Amino acid sequence: MIDAISTYINGCELDQVSILDMDAYEDTNINWRARRGYGALIAAYGASCPLALNCAVSLIDHSGKRLRIETSVGTLTAGKVIVTVPTNLIADQAIRFHPALPEKLDAARGLPLGLADKVVLALDDAEALPKEGNLRGATMRTEMGTYHLRPFGQPCIEGFFGGRFAQALEDAGEGAIAAAGIDEIVSFLGNDFRRKLKPLKESRWSHDPFARGSYSHALPGTPATVRCWPHRWMDDCSLRARRPRRGFSPPRTGQGIAERGRPKEVIAANHEALTNDLVIASEAKQSIRTTKE
Ligand SMILES: Cc1cc2nc3c(=O)[nH]c(=O)nc-3n(C[C@H](O)[C@H](O)[C@H](O)COP(=O)(O)OP(=O)(O)OC[C@H]3O[C@@H](n4cnc5c(N)ncnc54)[C@H](O)[C@@H]3O)c2cc1C
Repeated sequence: MIDAISTYINGCELDQVSILDMDAYEDTNINWRARRGYGALIAAYGASCPLALNCAVSLIDHSGKRLRIETSVGTLTAGKVIVTVPTNLIADQAIRFHPALPEKLDAARGLPLGLADKVVLALDDAEALPKEGNLRGATMRTEMGTYHLRPFGQPCIEGFFGGRFAQALEDAGEGAIAAAGIDEIVSFLGNDFRRKLKPLKESRWSHDPFARGSYSHALPGTPATVRCWPHRWMDDCSLRARRPRRGFSPPRTGQGIAERGRPKEVIAANHEALTNDLVIASEAKQSIRTTKE
């Protein structure tokens, strides 16, 4: 069970985690929950921003004065770019940089994404279970889920799976996480619960080509310079890669760096330029202008 808990907080079992990195984690012990979900929160915050969706970036050419960004809907140019994709995408070179940034590639490889998945099960006769309850029954195995009963009092159970077990369930195909959750809850609470539980939604983050995993962890032996990647590199250069952290608490601050400057400074000092660049991105959605270099 200890290894399972590591998968919930690190996305992987303890054999893959740098203990120094775990030790360096500063937990604020404050967790805010968003009733309508994290995605709805981000969408609300970003409502006034001009966005271009479905616009996958494949290359960032920083060889010239202005950056050239190749996307699935055309080529953009910009003065600045802030890259916030998951570390696995940087490591896999899903977005390439020209000239190459081998040091940052190595750093991303040292900070891979682990895996944590959630499933939501609709619950009939919800009053039989406590609001905001927790259910976890296995003590001697790692292949186990942990269950949040009636979050916000709603008639559902949220199951949480991590590490190699989550990977195996994802690989078993759509519906496997829900099936495993229902089987385990039934084994704790009795067979009556099988007819009370219906799958609503499950995540499969490692199969999502734009995520390729969930939150990151430092591998054992990862040098401190890499473990401190976000903080250190904010000062000296050029790339902000997402380093999502831990399932139960806010990610660490300062998770990356901006192309040619700190993100906040880039945004403050270049608000107008950034806005123009974002508008260009937004316009690209309407009419794709591919620049011929
Ligand atoms: C199960 C689970 C539970 C979690 N629990 C918590 C919690 O309780 N508290 C907490 O604070 N955090 C939690 N996290 C972590 C949190 O979700 C992440 O830290 C956060 O979502 C990271 O946001 P981000 O914008 O940096 O990255 P993302 O949300 O991954 O955004 C990256 C974006 O980049 C886009 N992208 C990828 N490739 C390209 C490309 N080539 N071109 C253009 N766009 C691209 C993706 O589509 C995506 O929209 C949890 C994560 C998981 C998986």
